[in-house]
Amino acid sequence: MAQNIAGKVVVSTGASSGIGEATAPLLASRGAKVVLGARRKDKLAQIVEDITKAGGEAVSQTLDVTVQADNDAIVDLAKDTYGRLDAIFLNAGLMPNSPLSALKTNEWHQMVDVNVKGVLNGIAAVLPTFIEQKSGHVVATSSVAGLKAYPGGAVYGGTKWFVRDFMEVLRMESAGEGTNIRTATIYPAAISTELLDAISDEDTAEGAQALYDQYGIAPERVADVVAYALDLPADTTVNEFTIGPAGQSW
Ligand code: NDP
Repeated sequence: MAQNIAGKVVVSTGASSGIGEATAPLLASRGAKVVLGARRKDKLAQIVEDITKAGGEAVSQTLDVTVQADNDAIVDLAKDTYGRLDAIFLNAGLMPNSPLSALKTNEWHQMVDVNVKGVLNGIAAVLPTFIEQKSGHVVATSSVAGLKAYPGGAVYGGTKWFVRDFMEVLRMESAGEGTNIRTATIYPAAISTELLDAISDEDTAEGAQALYDQYGIAPERVADVVAYALDLPADTTVNEFTIGPAGQSW
């Protein structure tokens, strides 16, 4: 495939672990300039150092996606450092699953804040630039939980259904308005990352851990999908990717 990815400036949220951590070096190795955000500063600094040592280009900034000003600031960092902005990977998310009867309402709200409002904040930060330059690529991590319901995942699934709907409408509107903003929504199944660490409900955590121990695949597999999407020629969009372990029925 042509190397359309080379030279692209890509902001990534949730870049400090798991899927985001695997994606940044891959994009950089293909010539993208990556701008990494998450809350853990030290993790980001290490990832930037590794990318730079390998000959790639990367910078990072502390980012809490629930804070609009943080999202705006990382977009500014991208433009100030590299002179442009081509894509954003909206990847930050958390999954403290539990049955509704456990009434873990703080966790419900946390998921809405990060998985829904974080996506809105990220889009609000990039949209003016993408509209003005009449190009841009938005890649977002939904989940197979955004395609299928399952017990324990009412709120998480709801936030990921939101991402699915939102991305499709963004694609339709941008096509209609001629702004050439492309979208790629990724629906991963069990990927071995730090995602399960946030589950506080014991039974749910045990069940999820057993599933991931049996099936989990490396986050690098999802990184390949992000790179594929960003490498597509400017006149082409592949909107949706479902990816998971070959043996998992999900
Ligand atoms: P990780 O827990 O390893 O990574 C989550 C990332 O999100 C971290 O970099 C974390 O960084 C960041 N993050 C969390 N809260 C915030 C916040 N408020 N502001 C900024 N960054 C934040 O899990 P994954 O890599 O698996 O998760 C990445 C995405 O993939 C999520 O959206 C998740 O829902 C989705 N997903 C994962 C699947 C899996 O099986 N692993 C399956 C389907 C979807 P920090 O803590 O430093 O802020």
